[in-house]
Amino acid sequence: MVVTVATLGFPRIGPRRELKTALESYWAGKTSQSALLAAVADLRAKAWARQRDLGADIVPSNDFSLYDHVLDTTAMVGAVPPIYGWTGGEVGLETYFAMARGAPGDIGHAGVGVPAAEMTKWFDTNYHYLVPEFTADQAFRLASLKAVREYGEAKAQGIETRPVLLGPVSFLLLGKTRGADFDPLVLLPRLLPVYAEILRLLAEAGATWVQIDEPCLVTDLSDTARAAFGHAYAALTNGTAPPKIMLTTYFGALADNLPTALALPVHGLHVDLVRAPGQLDAVVSGARPDLLLSLGVIDGRNVWAADLDAILDRVEPAVLSGRQVMLAPSCSLLHTPIDLDREADLDPEIRSWLAFAVQKVAELVVLARALNEGRDSVRAALDAASAALASRRTSPKINDPAVKVRISADDPSVARRKSPFEARRQVQRRRLRLPAYPTTTIGSFPQTAEVRKARADYGKSVIDAAAYHAFLREETARTVLWQEEAGLDVLVHGEFERNDMVQYFGEQLSGFAFTKHAWVQSYGSRCVRPPIIYGDVSRPRPMTVEWWRYAQSLTERPMKGMLTGPVTILNWSFVRDDQPRSATCRQIAFAIRDEVIDLEKAGAAVVQIDEPALREGLPLRHGEWQAYLDWAVECFRIASSGVGDAVQIHTHMCYSEFNDIIASIAAMDADVISIETARSRMELLDAFAGYRYPAEIGPGVYDIHSPRVPAVDEMASLLKAAAERLPADQLWVNPDCGLKTRNWPEVRLAVENMVAAARAARARA
Ligand code: GLN
Ligand code: ZN
Repeated sequence: MVVTVATLGFPRIGPRRELKTALESYWAGKTSQSALLAAVADLRAKAWARQRDLGADIVPSNDFSLYDHVLDTTAMVGAVPPIYGWTGGEVGLETYFAMARGAPGDIGHAGVGVPAAEMTKWFDTNYHYLVPEFTADQAFRLASLKAVREYGEAKAQGIETRPVLLGPVSFLLLGKTRGADFDPLVLLPRLLPVYAEILRLLAEAGATWVQIDEPCLVTDLSDTARAAFGHAYAALTNGTAPPKIMLTTYFGALADNLPTALALPVHGLHVDLVRAPGQLDAVVSGARPDLLLSLGVIDGRNVWAADLDAILDRVEPAVLSGRQVMLAPSCSLLHTPIDLDREADLDPEIRSWLAFAVQKVAELVVLARALNEGRDSVRAALDAASAALASRRTSPKINDPAVKVRISADDPSVARRKSPFEARRQVQRRRLRLPAYPTTTIGSFPQTAEVRKARADYGKSVIDAAAYHAFLREETARTVLWQEEAGLDVLVHGEFERNDMVQYFGEQLSGFAFTKHAWVQSYGSRCVRPPIIYGDVSRPRPMTVEWWRYAQSLTERPMKGMLTGPVTILNWSFVRDDQPRSATCRQIAFAIRDEVIDLEKAGAAVVQIDEPALREGLPLRHGEWQAYLDWAVECFRIASSGVGDAVQIHTHMCYSEFNDIIASIAAMDADVISIETARSRMELLDAFAGYRYPAEIGPGVYDIHSPRVPAVDEMASLLKAAAERLPADQLWVNPDCGLKTRNWPEVRLAVENMVAAARAARARA
């Protein structure tokens, strides 16, 4: 039995972010639709050829997307919400991009602009998808032949592909309902004929296998949802000569859903053996003898080179048992950067520890060959992998004994403030002397074109460090003085020196590496370049103290120290896989703690530690939530507890779901938390009120995602709504989030209105 190699999806953006360039120039009206389509066809052709040339036996098609594969599925099944004014036929680019990005007044009903569909995170990744929206009377019909077209496109290029579809059950489960509240799964019988139709067309075009992704199979499922799988796959496998289905699961263990998955009448099953190596035995022993198993042995979510010998040891028994297996990445390679070979400037030792999408396909080819022809046939590659691993285990770049000693010390007082909140509050009140409804902002002020240009010029050595710093000082000074004039109570320096809230800190911490080209798609044309945490983390020297000191020197009012929290730094990076994430987070926590202590020494009375990514680190299974929350909260507390009672610790989170984690939010023991509430009209405060959240809260009164400047009355009425839910002496007044994406005219007006609203609230109190 020959072991083959499959890839489940390849990065779409192109090695030089060609997709971003093509999309953005089309959106800007600079290129035509046909130019866009030609550019992306070229990207697809190159991705197929590349995977084939690397030696992959099964190459996917329809994994490409102009924006998002969930949106592609919405188009495929014709589930376009009525506001987009789609009148039938194939869903065209205009409708597609209107759903993705919203549209001005020239599309949709009666010349009125339409908002984009809601976007949310794809499972626990940093990729965002567009949430399908279903009404109770939702109808479906085949409205996009993209899957068939792209299959044909590859075929014309001489490459036989396995088309990828998002499965019908996951598609429904990922959607939300509009109008009535109902279980979207009731729509399944209406949806399945569309899937059957597309499978038929794919088979007709020549496809023998189709990859159908059902990642929801690794999440907690109701009995109804489990039954839906049985129902769906019975329907999709009983047409006349349907293509064979590789049912694909990833991002975790099937666990309690394994019997459901194994009972489906599909021809193949893909399992994630990186997140869930332990499920191999149960899968192998439970699977029908003729079920083709696709073993996800190479990490599609991270950047580390694999331990090839260990993988071979693990999968050999299954192969020797005579079972038919294929090897694959754990999930689509969408979540990894494309090609390590472009990182010429990376330290060669660190580079030897890494593998991006291209290198991961090559690893799979080596593994398959070792299984088919014996390990000696690929000895050099296996030896190189072991050598890299050995260096990774022992390299002084990774191992810092002092850090290890520090984080393993078993001293619970490191995670405890000196006094409880009420006592701290009295000390802080005497020190800060703030009015009722104190006003502040979340940290950043507009990153204008000039700010970005100065940074770029500095990066290209067009200006020197002195000139760049002089520019930043001027910008900071102007912003501080303006905040005084505007009447804000607690000021910020504006964060002009920061490119990104994680990168700025990562660049100053040891244990972090940065790449030049290792982009991954976040959504649509937006890409991010997460830092790589490869080693023990420590803080060689203060990171923000000088900027804080300068900003504080310009004003008598309290200047907030502004830091990114350990959990957010962790969740927005590629994290080392040779120790638990919790251990890495704890190391970062101690590094941030050192910074907070140095800010205290410099005289800071208020320090904000942002944790906007705390919630997104939640595991996919509820049963694992508490363990995560426990260490995440502990890390925040380690970061914030090194200082005396007189330092007021703020935290900030920009999302609007707290009900299910409110106890952990309270356990963080911050003195003040600012949150996003403007759009939900303060409803979210019910979670805090219901829980009797003890500390102070700044519910955002200004939705910074919109260019619209809210009027004084509007913000005053939000404050009133807040005061109906919480005691007035618990409330702060601030925007939803940082102001870096807004422009100065908007910000000036909005903040002035916000201060006026706070004054009105004080007058009333
Ligand atoms: N302090 C950061 C800022 O103001 C917070 C950003 C965030 O919450 N994502 O930009
Ligand atoms: Zn925020």
